[in-house]
Amino acid sequence: MEHWLTKRANLSPETTAVELDNGDAFTFLQLKQKAERFALQLANVHQQGHLAILSDNVADMIIAFWACTYLKVPTVFLNTRLTVTEWQQQCDDADVQLVLCADSYSSDAEQLLQSVYSFSRIHDLTQADTTLASTIDMDAVCSMMFTSGTTGRAKAVMQTFQNHWSSAVASALNLGLLPSDKWLICLPLFHISGLSTLFKSVIYGMPVYLMERFEEDKVHQAIMEKQVTIISVVAVTCERLLHRLGEARYPASFRCMLLGGGPAPKPLLERAKQQHVPIVQSYGMTETCSQIITLHAADALRKIGSAGKPLFTSSLQVLKDGRATLSNEVGEIVVKGPMVTNGYYQREEANLKAFQDGWLYTGDLGYLDEEGFLFVVDRRSDLIISGGENIYPAEIEDVLLSCEGVLEAGVTGMEDEKWGQVPIAFVVRTSEQVTAEYLLAYCQDKLASFKVPKRLIFRSQLPRNATGKLQRYKLKDF
Ligand code: ATP
Ligand code: MG
Repeated sequence: MEHWLTKRANLSPETTAVELDNGDAFTFLQLKQKAERFALQLANVHQQGHLAILSDNVADMIIAFWACTYLKVPTVFLNTRLTVTEWQQQCDDADVQLVLCADSYSSDAEQLLQSVYSFSRIHDLTQADTTLASTIDMDAVCSMMFTSGTTGRAKAVMQTFQNHWSSAVASALNLGLLPSDKWLICLPLFHISGLSTLFKSVIYGMPVYLMERFEEDKVHQAIMEKQVTIISVVAVTCERLLHRLGEARYPASFRCMLLGGGPAPKPLLERAKQQHVPIVQSYGMTETCSQIITLHAADALRKIGSAGKPLFTSSLQVLKDGRATLSNEVGEIVVKGPMVTNGYYQREEANLKAFQDGWLYTGDLGYLDEEGFLFVVDRRSDLIISGGENIYPAEIEDVLLSCEGVLEAGVTGMEDEKWGQVPIAFVVRTSEQVTAEYLLAYCQDKLASFKVPKRLIFRSQLPRNATGKLQRYKLKDF
C-alpha cells in the first residue's frame, strides 16, 4: 500500500491534521512535510533497529512517529510516568538502540544506556541523503507498546501496520464517519487509545485535537467550543468530565464519548445517561490495538454495563474448560481478528499461554447474554474462590464505591482455613465517619454473605500502576 500519510497528503492536503490547544494547527500536507524532514534529519543518527519515543502529547511526538514510518523503523513507546529504571528495563526488553525524547525529558533520559536525542537536537541536524519509504509493508511491525503491567511485568506487544489499519477500519464501520468528525486526544499517545487515533486521523482524513495531558477544564471547553465530535476516555477521566459538565449539556454535534481501558462502574454509566452524554462502552487491550468489542450507540441504554459485540472483522468466544459457555455463564474471553497482535516481543512463555489456534486468550472473564452481548466480569488472575463459590473482586469494589464517602476500593483474596479463600477489602475514604461497621452493614445489604469482605482495611492510597489501574496482586502484601 502507498504510504498512508503520503496518500492522505495527496487526497486532502488542505484538511487540518492536528489542532493543538495553544491554537496552532497544521494540515495533512504540512504534517507529511514535517515528518519527511524529520525523517531525513533522524537518518543521520538512526536508520535501522528499534527506536523508542519518550514524550507527552506534543506535536513533535506525532511528527517523530510518522518520520519513523518513513524510515521503516519500529517505534517503541515509553510511558513517561515510569522511573528511569523502568524505562531502562523496557528499552532492554525491546532491544531499543536509540531513544528520542521530548526536550523536557532530556536530563532523565540521558541516564539511559542507549543513545538519547531530544526532538530539538534532531531538528538541528542537516538532512541526510536517503530515500524515504513510499509504501507501507502491512506485515511489518509498526509499533511496540508495553501492556500496562496491571497483573505482572509489562510485556511488549508487537503491533503491525495491518493491526492498526484493521483497528481503524473496524472502528469506522461501527461508529460511522462524518465529514465533520474531529477526535479529541487527551489520553497519552504512548497508550493504544491515544496512538490508535493517529491512524484513524490519517486513514479517515480526520482532524485530531491534541491535548498535552488531561485537564478537565480544557477538555470540557474544547468539547463545548471547538466542534469536537468524538473523545476517547477511561473511567476516571469520564467521571471528572461528567462532574465538570454538571447541569450543562454538550453540543448536539458531540456524538461519542468512547469509554475503554478498564471496567466502567455502573453508577458512572447511569450518571452519563442522566446527563445525556453519548457514552459508547468498549473493551480492548494493547494486544488488540484498542477496541475489539464495542457497544453500538443504539444499544447503549438497553444494555447498560455491556461492552457490546465484536467489531465487524473480529470474533469472540467465551470458553470454560475448553467449551463454549452457555448464556450468562462466566468463562474466559477469547478473541480473534486482524487487529490482534501476532505476539509479545521475546516472551516465549507468555506467547504460548496467550495464543492458541489464532485466538488470543485474554485472561479476562466475562459472559454473553442471550443476545450475545459481552459483559466483562473481571480478570481471571484476580478471581477469589471461597468454599467453591466464585467471587469477582470487581463486584464487591463496585458496591463499596457506590457508598458515599468511599473514594477508592480494592478487593483481594486472603487464605482461610475453612473456606480456602475469603475476600478482604482495602478502602480509601473521604471521611472517618465511614467506619468499618457501617461499610460492612452496607455490603451485607447488597451482597450475598460469602461475598461480604471478612476484613476492611483503611488506607490513604491503593497500589496503582502508572496508568492509575489498580494492581490487585500487590494488595496481598499491602
Ligand atoms: P497487563 O496485561 O500488563 O496486566 P493490562 O491488561 O491492564 O496490563 P492494557 O492492555 O492496558 O494492560 O489493558 C487491557 C485490559 O483492561 C483488559 O485485558 C481488561 O482487563 C481491561 N479492560 C479493558 N476494557 C475493559 C472493559 N470494558 N471492561 C472491563 N475491563 C476492561
Ligand atoms: Mg493485559
